[in-house]
Amino acid sequence: MNILGIETSCDDTAAAIINEKGEVLSNVLSSQTQFYKDYGGIVPEIASRKHAELIGYVIEEALKSANRTLNDLNLIAVTYGPGLIGSLLIGVEAAKAISFAKEIPLIGVNHLEGHIYSLFINNKPLNIERVEFPLLILIVSGGHTELVLMEEHIRYKLIGETRDDAAGEALDKFARALGFEYPGGPVIQKIGEKGDPSFFHFPRLSLKNPYEFSFSGLKTAGIYYLKKHEKELKTHLPDICASFEDALTDILVNRTLKAAKALKVKGIGIVGGVSANKRLRKKFKTRSKIPVYFPQKGFSTDNAAMIAINGLMHYKNGERSNLLLDAVSRLNL
Ligand code: AMP
Ligand code: MG
Repeated sequence: MNILGIETSCDDTAAAIINEKGEVLSNVLSSQTQFYKDYGGIVPEIASRKHAELIGYVIEEALKSANRTLNDLNLIAVTYGPGLIGSLLIGVEAAKAISFAKEIPLIGVNHLEGHIYSLFINNKPLNIERVEFPLLILIVSGGHTELVLMEEHIRYKLIGETRDDAAGEALDKFARALGFEYPGGPVIQKIGEKGDPSFFHFPRLSLKNPYEFSFSGLKTAGIYYLKKHEKELKTHLPDICASFEDALTDILVNRTLKAAKALKVKGIGIVGGVSANKRLRKKFKTRSKIPVYFPQKGFSTDNAAMIAINGLMHYKNGERSNLLLDAVSRLNL
């Protein structure tokens, strides 16, 4: 089986081909970040235009590097939400056109489910057949910070989420206040690597509901600190970045581990862009008593392989989308 995955929910135009075992035959991504340097963030109108320009090339490249043609495809999986509506539409319409022209079944995939399934790409770190449920999943990205209880394949319960900013958003805004371009997470990580995380104690979260998050307080404290301590920026930038990242990762790790204990899960999966963060990975690995799983390198941030593998699971479950599949900007798990 050859499954084509298509992902255009935000600012990355991506296509991938996987086989029925979930092995990646090709994984192509065209990032648009270079276009947003002057804007300090993604511009939806530019994003959808770039998707429209790129989608054909990206799909063609995915087929070519997998040594396949459109005639070899058996299934198409496409992100239909959540995300930017104009961006989503480009992927959905491309997928529907190929599905119709080649008479190939179509599956609309929830982007967040796709992130969860990044844990099963190439059966690493988790084997799709032999995984032990329940798993607690932390989805942590630029737009989401959610705790999800995964009771079995393609069955989830939302346990809690952020009340305000997502963790990635707080990192991006803190980095922007420092004058760095989007995305801020990788920059903060790089500069903070040699810094002292105990240099300044940014506030950790105290929320009554143990399953909820909030990052706007930390973000504001971070930006306020930068304004108040301009002099220290010159001499202590790595320490300041490390301290901010330390607070943010403490919040994520402490709350997730508490939830995992209360829910008595067999393991924890961390997915989404921020799951690439080294400090976060290290803290989870050292503090958790149960196994913690992270996507393989390159599959934390948005990609189409995760969409393809989630589409395959829904297909095996007997589900099919039709040509009335529509993009949905706000979509829950
Ligand atoms: P996504 O929304 O899943 O595409 O992920 C993008 C988000 O992940 C942005 O907020 C980035 O700043 C963040 N991100 C990406 N890589 C890292 C990293 N190594 N450390 C922290 N945050 C990261
Ligand atoms: Mg994403």
